[in-house]
Amino acid sequence: MTVSESELEPEVFITVSDVMEYLFCPRFIYYMHCLGIPQHEEKRYKVLKGRELHEAREKVNKSYIRKKLQCVRKDVSVYLVSRKYHVKGEVDEVLFLADGTAAPLDYKFAEFKDTVFRTHRYQSALYGLLISDNYGVEVNRGFVCYTRSNHLVNEVKLNYKDFARAIALVNEVLEIIQKGFYPEATKYKVRCVDCTYRNICV
Ligand code: SF4
Repeated sequence: MTVSESELEPEVFITVSDVMEYLFCPRFIYYMHCLGIPQHEEKRYKVLKGRELHEAREKVNKSYIRKKLQCVRKDVSVYLVSRKYHVKGEVDEVLFLADGTAAPLDYKFAEFKDTVFRTHRYQSALYGLLISDNYGVEVNRGFVCYTRSNHLVNEVKLNYKDFARAIALVNEVLEIIQKGFYPEATKYKVRCVDCTYRNICV
């Protein structure tokens, strides 16, 4: 069961980070938003991201971005809100491409693996929804720069299924927050080992 459009409060927003937390374990949302217990890693991540983002941007080959990705203009560190999708978040870079579309570029402090992480795909899709709603341009791909793999930039192609799933994920998070619904635990028990909530999670 999900939250229907008519049940949604118009000014309720969740962040793209909330959806990433939800993908890691749905119960994070319940503990953070329904019980108000913060997750300490979040702050650490923000400090790390702030410190390394500047350095990472300097290292990414600017002519590569311009030529290979056919980028004609970009906006940097853009905070976007979408009433339509009930989501908000800061996009590292919004790239405007020569074919008239736009794409998010996100920096990850991670190594590139052959398969695109599900979290990276849906993060790109959510940023894509934010960009299309705010700028009124089509988004059909995102880019992720892996700073631990020599700043490799990987393209994530996005189709309607990715956007539909991203919208469904937002709905699932909203259902937990608005209805106080206690969700299933993650299937991956290894994630519980050093989890902030392991002592209260049943
Ligand atoms: S202990 Fe495990 S199931 Fe509970 S919130 Fe943490 S990761 Fe999720």
